[in-house]
Amino acid sequence: MSKDSNKNVKPPCPYYGKCGGCQLQNLSNKDQNLYKQKEAEKLLGKYGRVENILVMDDPYNYRNKIQYSFGYDKKGKIISGMYESNTHKIIDIDKCLIQDPIADEIIKTIKSIMKKYKMEPYNEDTRQGFLRHVLIKTGHKTGEVMVVVVTANHMFHGKKNFVKILRKKHPQISTVIQNINSKNTSMILGDRESNMYGKGYIEDILCGLRFRISSKSFYQINPSQTETLYNKAIEMAGFKGNERIIDAYCGIGTISLIVANKVKEVIGVELNGDAIQDAIRNSKINNINNVKFYKADAGEFMVGLASKNEKIDAVIMDPPRAGSDEAFLHSMCQLNPEKIVYISCNMETQARDLEYLVKNGYKVKGIQPVDMFPQTGHVECIALLQRTNM
Ligand code: SAH
Repeated sequence: MSKDSNKNVKPPCPYYGKCGGCQLQNLSNKDQNLYKQKEAEKLLGKYGRVENILVMDDPYNYRNKIQYSFGYDKKGKIISGMYESNTHKIIDIDKCLIQDPIADEIIKTIKSIMKKYKMEPYNEDTRQGFLRHVLIKTGHKTGEVMVVVVTANHMFHGKKNFVKILRKKHPQISTVIQNINSKNTSMILGDRESNMYGKGYIEDILCGLRFRISSKSFYQINPSQTETLYNKAIEMAGFKGNERIIDAYCGIGTISLIVANKVKEVIGVELNGDAIQDAIRNSKINNINNVKFYKADAGEFMVGLASKNEKIDAVIMDPPRAGSDEAFLHSMCQLNPEKIVYISCNMETQARDLEYLVKNGYKVKGIQPVDMFPQTGHVECIALLQRTNM
């Protein structure tokens, strides 16, 4: 069965087919998971048995983050939403079915007050206008909400009243940030930020721990399935308690801190400075003392450890979609950990990296897909590898 299979259902979302967000709404949830299972078997099956995908019971309203762009339609009405797939044409979206509903409500309010506060939508072609994007992050368990208003310059005249109205209509909003992005770029966020209201970050609770999340740090977008993913990954690793492990590509330190009480020592490494600051604060908030975080390129960091002949018992790695790189994989093999838990949101690059690892002394012992992104074509997958040259 392919995602274009005849077993179609009527996509529940009116924007389906146009919007670049979801790819599989034409399939029932059961068929979506069958499709994902087949994809996992096709890409990773040659390394071992692929366990049944861990599904989400209620596969809607799970996303805790949106990034909407703003513009005008042909009649001059302000629109906001996602881009059409592979274009920079904005689709005017009132309601996104995979999103936390509060985000759509906040966007609706912003749209309705933009004129009053002279917030012209930014036009990427003419480079005129003010409001480029709005990013909203929500804390699944805490209910805290962050609104990031991305503007083309810093002159936000009515900002005090803008925040007041937003907060009055949506008291759940706990922080509002202005992010200034004056570059000609398709990147959403610029470098400069000013805090308009609240603490400048939100917190969420994951696997019983509290995590601080700032605007630019990565945080998994489906928190309830993230708990399933992390618990499974930790179970597959089967730690005994005396291990010294690395959490590579650690983001705000979620995996490092959640696994900390199951091992002796954790070393977290991450490239994004804001995420590392969050990770260090998160270790303090949760009173965890056996984790150290380093801001570095994961590949370079591993090269450094290998040159010092450090003893590492296991590596948990969770790279971005592009996968890992040769410097990282080569040095990891030199460090020769007994186990590697490779978590990935892109099974194609994961397959490429597993190929390297099985050629260099590792055997795949378990493969577990997790449905982290229902309605979309994306699949998260855990692979457990064991050293063969013991
Ligand atoms: N494990 C974390 C984050 C996974 S996302 C979690 O579950 O939340 C991948 C992370 O890799 C992002 O935080 C990204 O900033 C980071 N990253 C990307 N390239 C990197 C590199 N070359 N070295 C280290 N970290 C990198």
